[in-house]
Amino acid sequence: MFKKTNPQLSLFQPKVMFPEILPDGDWSNIYREKIYPLINEDIFKHLYHETDGAPNKSVRVQVSLLIFMGLETYNWREAEFQFLRRIDWMNATYTPFGEANIDHTTLFKFFQRIKTDDAAYKLFKNLTQTFILECGVSVRKQRVDSFFMYGWLERLSRYGLLKETIRGFLQNLRKQKPGLYEQTKSDLSRDYIESGFDLTEKDKKKANRKILEMARDMYLLKSAFENHSQVKHYISFQTLAQVFEQQCIVKPKKDQKGEDKEIICDSPNIEIREKPEGDKIISTPHNTDAEYTRKRDQKIVGHKGFVTETCEPENSVQFITDANLEKASHPDAVEISRIEERLEENDTKPEKFYGDAGFVNGESILESEEKGISLEGPSSGRAQSFEQFEKKDRPLDIADFKVEIKDNSKELVVISCPNKQTPSSQSRSKKTGKLLAHFDNKACQQCKLNSRCPAKVGKRVSTLTVTEEQYAGAARHHKYMGNTEYRKECGIRAGAESLVNEIAHGHGARKSRHRSEEGSRLQLLFAAISCNVKRYIRHTVECVQNQGNFIEAEV
Ligand code: SF4
Repeated sequence: MFKKTNPQLSLFQPKVMFPEILPDGDWSNIYREKIYPLINEDIFKHLYHETDGAPNKSVRVQVSLLIFMGLETYNWREAEFQFLRRIDWMNATYTPFGEANIDHTTLFKFFQRIKTDDAAYKLFKNLTQTFILECGVSVRKQRVDSFFMYGWLERLSRYGLLKETIRGFLQNLRKQKPGLYEQTKSDLSRDYIESGFDLTEKDKKKANRKILEMARDMYLLKSAFENHSQVKHYISFQTLAQVFEQQCIVKPKKDQKGEDKEIICDSPNIEIREKPEGDKIISTPHNTDAEYTRKRDQKIVGHKGFVTETCEPENSVQFITDANLEKASHPDAVEISRIEERLEENDTKPEKFYGDAGFVNGESILESEEKGISLEGPSSGRAQSFEQFEKKDRPLDIADFKVEIKDNSKELVVISCPNKQTPSSQSRSKKTGKLLAHFDNKACQQCKLNSRCPAKVGKRVSTLTVTEEQYAGAARHHKYMGNTEYRKECGIRAGAESLVNEIAHGHGARKSRHRSEEGSRLQLLFAAISCNVKRYIRHTVECVQNQGNFIEAEV
């Protein structure tokens, strides 16, 4: 049964036994008085059985330790080690001497328990709301950025992927069914478990030969266990089968007459696919969720993290208001709408939201507008070169036309073209819903701008095809490129890059310590909680110091 932390204070706590052991302004005193009580254990209650399975360590202490891990980028074993020795950790968690012990597996199991639940996000939300209220922080202006969180294992070559996938499966088989493992291992081309853990092969010819051998081993294992009542359910086996399907192909064997004949299991004709095939290509067997993607010269296997923080210059401290993790190839412009929804739900909706060109396009500008948020920043898909923009012969776009947006329907109406020609008619395409503005094609044929104009000059009529989203994107581009003040205002977004740096390097979110997406997401969330806790504590210390200075000055 779930049990809350005993509120009774022990006489063996560091602060009670040795009141002078830590200075009054120590961070742990602020944590124990202001943050520790805010950890609402009720949000974790449903994760425990109604009658059995009480937490063997206080939930508040475990949550605090996860926060401390994020504050100082410790791993599980280091957290166990530190808790025994750190007076400030004991003080922060009201832990008496002699009780400051936790097995790293207990902490890890607690993390596993909450990783698929929204309890940690609720904790993040509650803490953030309280910090914002207490520090009088305005959420009117916020900024967002994304970054890559590298997967648990670096990207493997095909050689490494096949070798590691087979090794992972055989290791599991040896543990679960040692007899079966012994029977199988002699049929394979090599000893995958005992031989050295080397996932690279520099000699290309040798690597290609070995890849083929390993593909045959994979096929053999797949054929041997795909109908086994238990082994076929092992995750490591399913990964092996999936990797085989994605990377290899079984070609029908030809008989003497050159006709296809059925493949016999012991002599398969296996080839390696030129490119892996499938919806979700596995890049590493240890984290099948991690996706491979490229950004300029960067090759990444992992996930993409999104962090949002307040950025009102008047605020004495800024707090992270949202954190999320998605697949590495997840587009920023899709996530922005979800971030806004979460911010609205958490009562931290901004009035102005700053993002880079990845987040801002015509669609996201209009979607944000509907939510009452003004999404600011350069529009994506356009070269941000002033030289190009200022060139006299640059291609024209819809923002060069005179248009009007209807107040009620927000529909676009074209008033005139850059050559001051008014459209002869305009209507909506029944098929696409796009606005079709028609112009006199004779005037267009004689127009000096026709080689730069987006209107298509036809035989009978010239047509400009446009949507509200295209106009919003183009108008933003013109505003950004042509208005120095606006560009200066958008410069506030650059601060989100130092937030990313702080989260990724200062709180350990650059590299995932987990094999699943949920684990990596929770790691990022605790990094964000830790960052907010650190900022709150620093701000509180500064306020106390300033108060002291103020009193001194008055005296
Ligand atoms: S080509 Fe036609 S629509 Fe385009 S600017 Fe010239 S007159 Fe206007």
